[in-house]
Amino acid sequence: MSKPKVNEDICIGCGTCESLCPKVFKLEDGKSHVVTDECGDCDCQEVIGSCPVNAISMEE
Ligand code: SF4
Repeated sequence: MSKPKVNEDICIGCGTCESLCPKVFKLEDGKSHVVTDECGDCDCQEVIGSCPVNAISMEE
C-alpha cells in the first residue's frame, strides 16, 4: 500500500491537503503531517496535484 508523505521543509501550511483529505493530513505547527498509513476513501493523487508547492509525494 502506498503512503503519502509530506516534505515539511517545503510545506507552507496552506491547508489544502487537510481540507481535501482530513483523515490523512493534519495541520500542526503550521505544517501538514500524515496521520494514517492509507488514503482510504479520499483521492490522494488529487491532493498531491493540488499542493501549491509540490510538498506531497507517494511512498511505495
Ligand atoms: S497542500 Fe502542500 S503546502 Fe498546503 S498544507 Fe498540504 S502539504 Fe503543506
